Amino acid sequence: MSAAQTVITGELLIDGAWRAGTAGAMRAFDPVRGEEVGPAFGMATIDDARDAARAAAAAFPAFRALEPAARAAFLRSIADGLDEARDALVERALVETGLPEARLVGEVARTSGQMRLFADVLDRGTAEGIRIDPALPDRAPAPRLDIRQRKVPLGPVVVFGASNFPFAFSNGGGDTAAALAAGCPVIVKAHQAHPGVAELVSRVIERAMREHGLPGGVYQSLLGSGRDVGTALVKDARVKAVGFTGSRSGGLALVRAAQDRPEPIPVYAEMSSINPVFVLPSAADGTLGEGFVGSLTLGAGQFCTNPGLVFVPRDPAGDAFVDAAVAAVRRAVGQPMLTRGIHDAFQSGCQRLATVATEIARGTRGPGPCAPAPRLFEAHLEQFLARPELSEEVFGAAALLVRYDDAERLPEVASRLEGQLTATIHVDPEAEDAAVAARLATELELRVGRILVGGWPTGVEVGHAMVHGGPFPSTSDGRSTSVGSLAIERFLRPVAYQSFPAALLPRSLRDGTALPRLVDGQPLV
Ligand code: NAP
Repeated sequence: MSAAQTVITGELLIDGAWRAGTAGAMRAFDPVRGEEVGPAFGMATIDDARDAARAAAAAFPAFRALEPAARAAFLRSIADGLDEARDALVERALVETGLPEARLVGEVARTSGQMRLFADVLDRGTAEGIRIDPALPDRAPAPRLDIRQRKVPLGPVVVFGASNFPFAFSNGGGDTAAALAAGCPVIVKAHQAHPGVAELVSRVIERAMREHGLPGGVYQSLLGSGRDVGTALVKDARVKAVGFTGSRSGGLALVRAAQDRPEPIPVYAEMSSINPVFVLPSAADGTLGEGFVGSLTLGAGQFCTNPGLVFVPRDPAGDAFVDAAVAAVRRAVGQPMLTRGIHDAFQSGCQRLATVATEIARGTRGPGPCAPAPRLFEAHLEQFLARPELSEEVFGAAALLVRYDDAERLPEVASRLEGQLTATIHVDPEAEDAAVAARLATELELRVGRILVGGWPTGVEVGHAMVHGGPFPSTSDGRSTSVGSLAIERFLRPVAYQSFPAALLPRSLRDGTALPRLVDGQPLV
């Protein structure tokens, strides 16, 4: 990144130009030192939001007309730019998030890798999902017409950056990569937890846009109030889909705003998940208890996949798990949470838990005003089933251990859980209770987006088979994923072309192209 590009001006990126936001100003917050850091960031007005929507709509025809190879090259330029800018990005993110350096370095690599993954998908030609049913003029009793299908982009997409992933789920994150790959212009409502990072990443994307001669409306970034500017963007008739990661209340407000429009649009909101873990009697031991706390406290517990609910047998092996977990939590030192708001929400969530469950371990506070002590609570299964509030997400390093007497009940317990991003089963596959694990998995298929046997849910691989989604309330639409190449589907829509002469057909649907396709339902590569 050249020196000029590492200067943070606190401006908004609208239609290819940097502009001062005039709806007040904010500063970034350093959660480790507990102080504000400059520069002042100007906040967007509703007029800025309108301008961005107008520019995105104006850019859409040219952007969607780009050949997939050209879009792939654009994504690769962004990826290269992110890698080149890594040190400056990480330096700023350290100040704005308090997350560990190694995590931030890894997250930049994940984010550039995500861009390249979608570029590869475009190069392979699978994104358009081509299907061809050739005409059957002699079919009896009625002939069949030639029908060809491909997927087209929805139009401008608004992405709400996440607080807890300054790179991978923010300005240049998965939603942005998927939407750009699909051919949709993107307007990011940047998260106020890391405005400087948002600007630096936007400068990387802006440079790639210029290099590829793309219109300024292809990618834009606004900092502003979610309720005002964010909602105005979602309600703008030119916007056709929304990606969101954050709280249940924020996600649902945007779903309602999108549904209330004269033309309702899809909102892909990733919201709350407590990621249940089922420790079966055959797998419970102290080592597992210690491993659990490692996953619980990672990144101050600020992962949507954080294991917040663990079912543990009430027997000696389960006691060993609990004892080890208690000891590990007591040794743990709190890490800074991203914002004062998230810290305060964690504390009140723990207070809520403490009124209905027993606190069995507490670590120590970490440095600064936002590093609460990790906490562990316990309840019996009957208590858990009777108190729905024990299933509410406490975002951060706090978990509830639920002790059960009979593993046979776990499948039924699973059937009563809300929708989740993940569920994890710990079992010895050779043991008798493996049969329970099988029934549990059958139940969990209907409740979660990813089921793990062994391990912990906090690492999310970015690939083709990954699902990071799940039934409500983990997301507002459990039919898709926000991580991995399948995410492109959220911003595409199938269109059938019937009886088109070759000259009028989109190029990808003509005979003789080398693109992968289904012909009469049969794959043809
Ligand atoms: P958030 O409060 O939901 O904010 C996320 C984004 O949505 C921000 O840009 C915010 O705008 C906007 N927003 C919030 N409420 C809105 C509304 N009613 N109308 C329009 N826009 C709205 O999430 P957060 O700041 O990341 O963290 C707060 C809490 O969310 C955490 O304590 C945690 O409980 C939860 N969270 C969950 C996950 C997860 O993956 N499960 C991830 C992160 C956070 P502003 O800029 O105006 O705030």
